[in-house]
Amino acid sequence: MQLFKKRAYIPITKHTQLDEEIDAPMVPDGMFAQCPSCKKAIYTKDLGTQKICPECGYTFRIRAQKRIHLTLDEGSFEEWNQDIPFENPLDFPNYDKKIKQAQMNTDLHEAVLTGKGLIDGLETAICVMDSHFIMGSMGKVVGEKITRTFERATNEKLPMIIFTASGGARMQESILSLMQMAKISGSVARHSDAGLLYVTVLTDPTTGGVTASFAMQGDIILSEPQALVGFAGRRVIEQTMNEELPDDFQLAESVLENGFIDKIVLRKDLKETLSQILRIHQ
Ligand SMILES: [Zn+2]
Repeated sequence: MQLFKKRAYIPITKHTQLDEEIDAPMVPDGMFAQCPSCKKAIYTKDLGTQKICPECGYTFRIRAQKRIHLTLDEGSFEEWNQDIPFENPLDFPNYDKKIKQAQMNTDLHEAVLTGKGLIDGLETAICVMDSHFIMGSMGKVVGEKITRTFERATNEKLPMIIFTASGGARMQESILSLMQMAKISGSVARHSDAGLLYVTVLTDPTTGGVTASFAMQGDIILSEPQALVGFAGRRVIEQTMNEELPDDFQLAESVLENGFIDKIVLRKDLKETLSQILRIHQ
């Protein structure tokens, strides 16, 4: 058995030639994972299909494809916008290579998966961001995919659900990635003007430009427990304010207490909750 393959989620046979480029060794699938919350080593099989820590209830970050599988009715997902081409608008060094690497690691073409599907038989447009793809950062392609999904949902009179997971704007695209915030927000407004429902589900981590735009524009804002939800990071704020922040700072639970989230929902109850919300707003 190969004990220390480089990344747990790379099918090793398919990507062996890239091994030298990945330095951080990780424990392989099917062994142990350290819970980011309680720091205990958990046998990965004990996380179950929902990927929940049996010790403290922390919900592990999951891949976009897995989220689709947990949320939508079996086989109902129809992917949209998978052919938007990648560009390196500022000729940022090694950016092309980084994208290719992320695509191979995740089997995604960008940091968001978009399309439509059914939840308990109810049709909805859906976007799922994936933090495994350059930390779910938002560049032109991500912005374009989400905008087009909103526009198509508006035309087809569909509600929209977005699972957010992002480190924020993609620095390799500079101002062009920040412009996505305004572009997506415009499409959110037109979807809303058409009287259609928009639900966001904040997952760990939802930060930066994503929080500052569409993550917080949902008619209903749900969150997974213990998700990091914020704009600037803890260190930046501590250094700017020159004071220490409380331990629960930017945790979904304290964000809820401060009125920015409507409800924290356990992963096992998410599908049922979304199904109820869709049914009420039909
Ligand atoms: Zn834990």
